[in-house]
Amino acid sequence: MTTHPNLAVISRYAQGGADLDDATVWSVEVHLEGCADCRARLAGSTAPDTRALLDRVAAAMDEAIVAGPPPAPVRRPWSTGRRRWLVWALGPWLGMTLSVLACALLLTMAWPGLPSLVLLIAPVAPLPGVAVAWSRRADPAWELIVGAPGAGLMMLLRRTATVLAVIVPALALTGAGARQPFALMLLPCLACTAATIGLGGRFGVRRAALAVGGIWVAAVVLPTIVTADVPVVLRPASTPVWALATVALAAYVATRSTDYRWLSSRD
Ligand SMILES: [Zn+2]
Repeated sequence: MTTHPNLAVISRYAQGGADLDDATVWSVEVHLEGCADCRARLAGSTAPDTRALLDRVAAAMDEAIVAGPPPAPVRRPWSTGRRRWLVWALGPWLGMTLSVLACALLLTMAWPGLPSLVLLIAPVAPLPGVAVAWSRRADPAWELIVGAPGAGLMMLLRRTATVLAVIVPALALTGAGARQPFALMLLPCLACTAATIGLGGRFGVRRAALAVGGIWVAAVVLPTIVTADVPVVLRPASTPVWALATVALAAYVATRSTDYRWLSSRD
């Protein structure tokens, strides 16, 4: 701290400092920032009319604050709740998925003798939405949200529930249109979603969605298109296996909540 300015300098500063050179004014101001004693001396050195003016300003501000309009309503709870369940970037991806399902239904109805495309793509239908639901690229408030105590696996599960709330009814409708059993539409879809979330904590949800989707397309969709025969994994006899796999993968996801506590592991 600089040395205390003497009382005469403080008094002249309190009068406006017109007769003080700039270097003195600056050194007084720097000193006043760090010295409560000199701030008290400065307050005592102001002229009575200046103190009266300050008192009038303070009283007027108090009245204006008391008589002013009430504070604007706080909208944070809705905003917070919405972000737990939804990120707006999901909209276009869900729209695209619904469009693809509709096209698959039209193709299935046009060529009823071939394996249903609706059945083939149902397992991977929620994956684009799940990948976007937990992506730093899609959510502008990503760092804030992920750093919040309520984030992590529970938030991803809530947003996944939002995705499924759109996709599952669409699967039910297109599955009925394509005359496919609903269990074979739903269970592989839930199993692939759970696999994506289970792997996502370690490798990133987007990478996990790409891997699960890629494996499904390479191992099931492409061979089916080539052979024009319904694969074993999508025949009604496979339903109990899918049910078991879904339960096992869901149990695995329940044990991976710690994976979602790291910012760097997700993308
Ligand atoms: Zn001082």
